[in-house]
Amino acid sequence: MLYSTYRPLNFKEVVGQDNNLITLKEQVKQNKYDSAYLFAGHRGTGKTTIARILARAINCKNASTDGPCNECDSCSSMLKNATLDFVELDAASHNSINDIKELVSSTKYLPTTLKKKIYIIDEVHNLSTSAFDALLKTIEEPPEHCIFILCTTELHKIPATIRSRCSIYQFNAISIEIMHDRLVHVLNDIKKPYEDTAINLIAKQADGSMRDALSIAEKIIISCDKLTTEHVKKSLCLLDDELSLKIIKAICEENGKDTINLIHKSYEEGKNLSHLADNLLETLTDAVLLIATQGKAEIYNSGQYKEELFAIVKEKPLDLIFWYVDQISTLREKIRNSLNPYMETQVYLIRCANPKLLNESMRDVLRRINELEGKVKNMEQGNFVIKDNKSDSKETTFIVSDEVEDDFVPIEEQWEDVEKITDLPFEEDDNKQKEVEEVEDKASSKNDSAEQVDEEDDEEMSEEMRELFSGYL
Ligand SMILES: [Zn+2]
Repeated sequence: MLYSTYRPLNFKEVVGQDNNLITLKEQVKQNKYDSAYLFAGHRGTGKTTIARILARAINCKNASTDGPCNECDSCSSMLKNATLDFVELDAASHNSINDIKELVSSTKYLPTTLKKKIYIIDEVHNLSTSAFDALLKTIEEPPEHCIFILCTTELHKIPATIRSRCSIYQFNAISIEIMHDRLVHVLNDIKKPYEDTAINLIAKQADGSMRDALSIAEKIIISCDKLTTEHVKKSLCLLDDELSLKIIKAICEENGKDTINLIHKSYEEGKNLSHLADNLLETLTDAVLLIATQGKAEIYNSGQYKEELFAIVKEKPLDLIFWYVDQISTLREKIRNSLNPYMETQVYLIRCANPKLLNESMRDVLRRINELEGKVKNMEQGNFVIKDNKSDSKETTFIVSDEVEDDFVPIEEQWEDVEKITDLPFEEDDNKQKEVEEVEDKASSKNDSAEQVDEEDDEEMSEEMRELFSGYL
């Protein structure tokens, strides 16, 4: 097995977990360890591998920042699984309370050959509630001579009581670049010729798991002299990128007939429609990257594919491509639960080939927004018109215009118009009431302004009145 053969034996050989390694190496350097570790993250990213390296490093007589020496007595006994002080429990198959009780009772005894007793519990999230309870006490107050390393792909299933007692290390998915380099190293080592694009394809299919990448590679190289892209596609039943390109081209050209023919052809050839949707989404992601970078983005399918795809999409606006992505993402969800995935595929891809559906709905939205803006503006101005009645002065006075009074539409009627345009029933809520009150306020302040305007005319009379009443003031 390639995965077991090339399983790293020290920190130096581990790839893609640099952040976790920095801390662990420091602990080895200082010979200071936590009593319980919780390694959590994506499968196949090296949790158990690093747990074993750490276990040996803790007990190794010549440990360095690279990890254990793998040669001393302690290392050899652990590598051969020949010591009772090193226990590995697979909680996927040993998850009962009795399994844990047995493990816990063994922690009472001092180690026989090693410095510390190490317990690795793999897939720990599978433990039953009572098994977790039985483990909790020991994890809370572990004996000096014991160290626990728990591994899980599902951190959320670990009870908070256990999590809070452990130092948690998060393991990230391995990047395609790192997997590519590791695969190249392994294939060179076993002297197997390969195509670089084939390696990239395997790395992509492994979905962040180094173990999967090596297992896929191993399965394929058994049946071929040279690892080629064609071999990988056939072995993994992958769809041709050419088919994706053709469908995207037909969609972009708004050619419904070609789109239907291509779907029909792939359906007749027994292609998995869910894979087709995945493939189309990948191609569209590449398209987005290429449009956004004017064709300069590095994508995993380089060469001719990249040129062809860019030629198809370079004139297309990004929002249209995003609309395609939305449609095909919905299609992918629908396919999962549909009784007739073929029909769903036809419907969604034909919709993609008719972007005027998008344009029409957008136009409709824009029209509604325009109408609403007009109405809101009208409501804001209400029964006022702004007039500069002193053109030679910088001051502006707001006066009431008779003309506006005629045009004034009561707020209730304006809301009815808004309801008609938006097709949404507006409830008699506080906001609406507030709007009505605002308009009423404006109307009353209008009267105030009108009185102010008349004030000048009344000025003379006011003087007279003041004289008349001066005796009384
Ligand atoms: Zn050693």
